[in-house]
Amino acid sequence: MTARLSADEQRLIDHIARRRDQLVDDLRRHVALPTGRNNTPALDEARGLFTSRLAALGALVSAVPGAPRPDWLDEAPDPAPGAVPPTAVCSRLSVAGAGCRILLAGHLDTVHDPAGDFRELTVAADGRRATGPGCADMKGGLVIAVAALESLEACGVRPAFGFVLNSDEETGSFHSDHTLRAEALAYDVGLIMEPALPDGSLVIQRPGSAQFRLDARGTPAHVGRDFTSGRSAIQALAHAITAANALADPARGRIASVGVVTGGIATNVVPPAASAWGNFRYPAEPDGREIDAALHALAFAQPGLCLAVRTVLNRPAKPRMPATDLLAATAQAAARDLGQPLPLGVTGGVCDGNNLQAAGLPTIDTLGVRGGGLHTPQEWIDLDSLVERCQLLALLIARLTRQGLR
Ligand SMILES: [Zn+2]
Repeated sequence: MTARLSADEQRLIDHIARRRDQLVDDLRRHVALPTGRNNTPALDEARGLFTSRLAALGALVSAVPGAPRPDWLDEAPDPAPGAVPPTAVCSRLSVAGAGCRILLAGHLDTVHDPAGDFRELTVAADGRRATGPGCADMKGGLVIAVAALESLEACGVRPAFGFVLNSDEETGSFHSDHTLRAEALAYDVGLIMEPALPDGSLVIQRPGSAQFRLDARGTPAHVGRDFTSGRSAIQALAHAITAANALADPARGRIASVGVVTGGIATNVVPPAASAWGNFRYPAEPDGREIDAALHALAFAQPGLCLAVRTVLNRPAKPRMPATDLLAATAQAAARDLGQPLPLGVTGGVCDGNNLQAAGLPTIDTLGVRGGGLHTPQEWIDLDSLVERCQLLALLIARLTRQGLR
């Protein structure tokens, strides 16, 4: 290997290299648990497998019930009314005298349909690539994070760490946001196991993201007999959609897009109701507030016709900040010493790193495995990245524990 590593660090790296088969087996087991769409039995099993291993390291484990999600977000509320919001779980290991307190976070859920055909890890003939639901996003990341903590323990390094495992990241972390933010206050740095960009890049900056809904209510009337007494909700909604989409200004990092529309009854009825759901993204909080205000300005009420606007800014923008740059530089130094490239990349995506950093915790959030085809039935993982990224994470945690952030 390289002389840039101390003898203790080299021992840690060698220990992880010997775990490759174990990492693949662990990934296979987790990919086979269909944790999409709030599938409670699989989520409970996956959560139990990880937390029992964290508890074996000495971590205290506590379950935190999910907060309710605004019911206007979905046409058919999900979870269904009366369903229990998914739980988040916090594991904490406090170590007296340890340096930097490190909060790891990862999500157990995937976007994949538990009843679908894409169900298991399939390893390619050359053994280097595999496909499977959530293999990269982010079961691979969770597998290497727990293995890294176990490997550190085996090599005599005891970091002070916390680990939040939530179950609703793919649907916006509405249930677990309060847990993420509360935990963030007790730590010095945040590390999130989202998959790396395909070239291994680390993302240190993300836009904010918000959801909105437009509801038009009109006056129904028979189109043939009584057209002039009707007021069309669809026409009012169409104007509002055009105005909402016009708030997009991609050159300035602003995106606004209506993605779902419903409304009307029949072609011979002036439509009494119509609704639209959309998403907007923004580079910094002032931009988010500006778009939010512009959307609310679309609301109106007049006799027989009105339009209501609802918004929720659930993922605050994650702009660059000096402490995050320092954390990224520490990760890049560790990668360099391992002979791994770790460039900085850009994405328009959002994740729980937005929430942690909004609570003041400097966070880097693409420390997971390399892969691609995320959120599709072609999702894949580069299996060599299990060992490589586990080594990188373990070395980063070891150095943060020994030297702090510098
Ligand atoms: Zn993810």
